[in-house]
Amino acid sequence: MIGLGCIGLSTCHHLSSQGLKVIGFEQYPYSGHSGTSSFGNARIWRHLQPNQESTDLMIKSQEKWKELEKESGTQLLVPNGLLVVAEENSKDYNEYASTATPDVQFLSNKAIMEKFPAMRVDHNPKLVGLWD
Ligand SMILES: Cc1cc2nc3c(=O)[nH]c(=O)nc-3n(C[C@H](O)[C@H](O)[C@H](O)COP(=O)(O)OP(=O)(O)OC[C@H]3O[C@@H](n4cnc5c(N)ncnc54)[C@H](O)[C@@H]3O)c2cc1C
Repeated sequence: MIGLGCIGLSTCHHLSSQGLKVIGFEQYPYSGHSGTSSFGNARIWRHLQPNQESTDLMIKSQEKWKELEKESGTQLLVPNGLLVVAEENSKDYNEYASTATPDVQFLSNKAIMEKFPAMRVDHNPKLVGLWD
């Protein structure tokens, strides 16, 4: 495997867990170097995606993250929730809403401010929320 960002490392892990011998090559001294996309110690992970294909992939990947957490004994996915705010019936809103899993709550303009008092959205009554 040439390149050990999160995709290369994940591929190495899955191939080796199937019994294959794998060698990984990385140009930097360590994975997640600042010159790569995998830089940093955190990434947002969310169900809400702009299309169903991506949401399905996130649902599937959740099982894989759980397996990896079990194997490593480390919590990797830390659920904090995600609030998407957009104008009702806008293109963005409709895309996200169409991929909402049953857990996603649809919030009215008023409900956003009740649930998140620090959020002010009353300047635009068309703004509504999706709480993942
Ligand atoms: C600022 C930023 C924020 C992001 N935030 C999120 C987020 O919140 N949530 C999310 O899901 N995604 C996020 N992403 C996207 C996600 O981080 C990337 O999709 C993912 O890290 C890509 O991983 P990768 O393994 O394909 O690439 P990389 O991490 O770039 O890995 C490629 C590796 O290949 C190595 N390499 C390249 N050429 C060679 C060579 N010739 N020889 C040896 N090694 C080589 C590189 O050094 C590197 O380590 C973000 C991306 C960026 C840049």
